[in-house]
Amino acid sequence: MWGRLSLGGAEAEGVYVTGHETASESDPMPAEPLEYATGALVLFSGGQDSTVCLGYALDRYVRVETVGFDYGQRHGIELDCRQRVRDMIARQFPQWGERLGPDHRIDISSFGAIGDTSLTSDAEIVMLDSGLPSTFVPGRNLAFFVYAAALGYRRGLTTLVGGMCETDYSGYPDCRDVTLRALQEAIRLGTEVDFTIDTPLMWRCKAETWALAYELGGEALVNLILEETHTCYKGERGTRHAWGYGCGECPACVLRAKGFAEWQASGAEAGNPRRG
Ligand code: ZN
Repeated sequence: MWGRLSLGGAEAEGVYVTGHETASESDPMPAEPLEYATGALVLFSGGQDSTVCLGYALDRYVRVETVGFDYGQRHGIELDCRQRVRDMIARQFPQWGERLGPDHRIDISSFGAIGDTSLTSDAEIVMLDSGLPSTFVPGRNLAFFVYAAALGYRRGLTTLVGGMCETDYSGYPDCRDVTLRALQEAIRLGTEVDFTIDTPLMWRCKAETWALAYELGGEALVNLILEETHTCYKGERGTRHAWGYGCGECPACVLRAKGFAEWQASGAEAGNPRRG
């Protein structure tokens, strides 16, 4: 599928590559120098979406490293989940464990100090006049990818994988496909390296993200996500719902619960999953 993708076209899986790759359908690796073609850096928060992205990357790239950002979140639960999720993935999926390289954690707390938002302060989560939720940290994903590119440059990892999504998203303009396409181009120009921003969840709703998790790692990966990952804005882990832990009321919990219910109702988990 790599060969059909072009920078200006509609990339069904949100994979941005230039048109010069000539790999065939049966060869999932882009025809680039090996050290660039095989290494991916996953923006990994320890949440549901980035855990699915980690499984996706481990399924595709020979060498995978993770990066997490501390930007002054008001709760550290999601970041605390990171190491445990990495350890469990490596243990439960040995073929992935062999590919999983070091974790990197970058402190960009000065960035959190700029945005006075619900995620970085104690304010209530509300919808603002701009139509964006107060959880919006302006330009956060732009900053993440610029840092990731700088790290990837040093590590020889030129595919940057992120869980941004335009389907069920809350209106964050830095999650949009067009934004990340432009950012990829800016990073390429600014580094003179053909970085690829790979966003496998871009066109998936939450139910389809659960389906992807099942497709990648079956029940074991779904259970790992249910038990270990965290997406609740309020940082609550007291109650275990059918869809995992969380307050059940914040926008992130509502989306996660709705998506899980839709996926279950679809009966997708009962059938024989298509493995990539
Ligand atoms: Zn919640």
